[in-house]
Amino acid sequence: MDFPQRLIDGYGAFLSERLPREQSRFHALAETGQRPEIMVIGCSDSRVSPEVIFDARPGELFVVRNVANIVPPFAPDGQAHGVSAALEFGVGALKVKHIVVLGHAQCGGVKAFAENAEPLSPGDFIGNWMKLMAPAADKVLRTGLSPADYLTRLEWANIANSLDSLLTFPGLAKLIEHGTVRTHGAYFGVATGELSVLDKASGQFRPVAAEAHARAFQAPRF
Ligand SMILES: [Zn+2]
Repeated sequence: MDFPQRLIDGYGAFLSERLPREQSRFHALAETGQRPEIMVIGCSDSRVSPEVIFDARPGELFVVRNVANIVPPFAPDGQAHGVSAALEFGVGALKVKHIVVLGHAQCGGVKAFAENAEPLSPGDFIGNWMKLMAPAADKVLRTGLSPADYLTRLEWANIANSLDSLLTFPGLAKLIEHGTVRTHGAYFGVATGELSVLDKASGQFRPVAAEAHARAFQAPRF
């Protein structure tokens, strides 16, 4: 059997630690179904797991992840659209109240776009996918920015662009307009552990739980 040993070990830890704590919750969720109030659209990056960052329990987050947390615009063309399908289910069936687009620092997809990276395969799927963030890139001036700062601005703009794309879905746009569904942009600093949230009025990302973050980094590590 070549199933990764790391996963078997991790499952063993889950059985001995988390499952006993969550067993009644799993039972209830199995009987009543899931009713998460929050949908997260995040990046596939292995360092940015929404369940880890938000310390989520089973049934709390409805998550869709893809390269660079992109929401493609509404396109009822009969083709297969993964994010649209997840939105349809999250909003239409689960009736989530919040949609969070979670971006992050050092995003490989954004970097590939910024550097116009060579295709990794003849299909150039990343290249074609990342073209969806072109409207975001158009809003970011490169002049005067260091390469690192430019990437950060692009990562922020890409989150805002995904939020804008949510508004291209007519039914969802109405729910957002009425306040039935609220949308949020968030940005996770992989190295710093800092979470900031988009303030739509100013267009700036502002740290949340800043005191707790400062405490976590001041606390002795031993
Ligand atoms: Zn990423």
